[in-house]
Formats: sequence, C-alpha cells, structure tokens
Amino acid sequence: MSSRLPEFIDPRRLANQGGGYSGTVELGDLPRLSGALMDTGGVAEFNLEFYRDNRNRARIKGQIQADLVLECQRCLGAMVLPVSAVLDLAVIQVPEEAERLPESCDPVWVEEDTLRLLDLVEDELILAIPQVPRHEPDACRVAGVNPVQGETADQEQEDDASDKPNPFAVLAGFKSDK
Ligand SMILES: [Zn+2]
Repeated sequence: MSSRLPEFIDPRRLANQGGGYSGTVELGDLPRLSGALMDTGGVAEFNLEFYRDNRNRARIKGQIQADLVLECQRCLGAMVLPVSAVLDLAVIQVPEEAERLPESCDPVWVEEDTLRLLDLVEDELILAIPQVPRHEPDACRVAGVNPVQGETADQEQEDDASDKPNPFAVLAGFKSDK
C-alpha cells in the first residue's frame, strides 16, 4: 500500500474539496476478504473520487480491479475470478436517507466523520464473490456432470436426509428399549 494513503478519511470533507485516492492494496492486507480466498497473493487496484452531486449529497465514484483466487465448490480446485467493480456510492448519515437515493447508487452509512478507506475497497470485493463459486462447467475438473441435473439430485438427497426421520431408526429404538 502506498504510504501516501491515509487509513481513515472524512468522505464529506473530501467531497467538498473534490478529492480522490488511487493506489493498490495487497489482498492479504484485507482480512475479511482474504479469509474467503484460496490464494491471498496479488493486489487490488483502486481509484476513488469524491464529489457533491446536484442534491448536495457526498458521493463516491470509482473502480476496483483484482483477480481473486477462490475455491470451486464443485471440484475444490482453484478458480480465478477477475473482478472489475464500478462504485457509485452516496454517503448517508441516517439509514432513512438510503430510501431516497437513486437506484443506481448504493448507500455508505457514515455516522461519524470518518471512514476506513480500505473498507470501501474490501467491501466491494467481498460483494463481488458469488455465494457458491464454481468454474464454468467446461472448465471444471469434475467432468461429465450436467450441472443442472447434478444439482437437483444433490438437493433431493439432502432433503431426504434432513426432513424425514428414518423409520428403521425408530424401530431400532423400540427394540433396544425392551
Ligand atoms: Zn471446478
């Protein structure tokens, strides 16, 4: 991380000044993100700009780019997810303000004056990770599985196991009581 970057920023003051920050951060320095990664090497590049919009809201626009190495949940192998996220954020003071924002823009709730600069980067990268990361079917080491059929079969098996008690287990219980 560049030494010029502050840890904490005041987004409203920066918006008044029309300031911005750009730089890189090691993925390993983002603890909440790196827990989800198979390989924490590499960096995220970011560029953030602060300004006031025509309703005098403090806004943050920018881009974040990183290649995230995730574990494919089908074959448990490494998969690279190239992330190129575009930010469009509005700094809000109270949660109710979020309801009045344009749909294209996401709220950042900053109650006090300061915000951790790298939290903006880390949050955006975490949001970019799919809930169940998987290779594309033709790139996955688990070959010959039709992803749709495979998933349905797995789902049914899980439901059988968890929802219905095994009738034989009940009988076994009666037997051992006598
Ligand atoms: Zn895979």
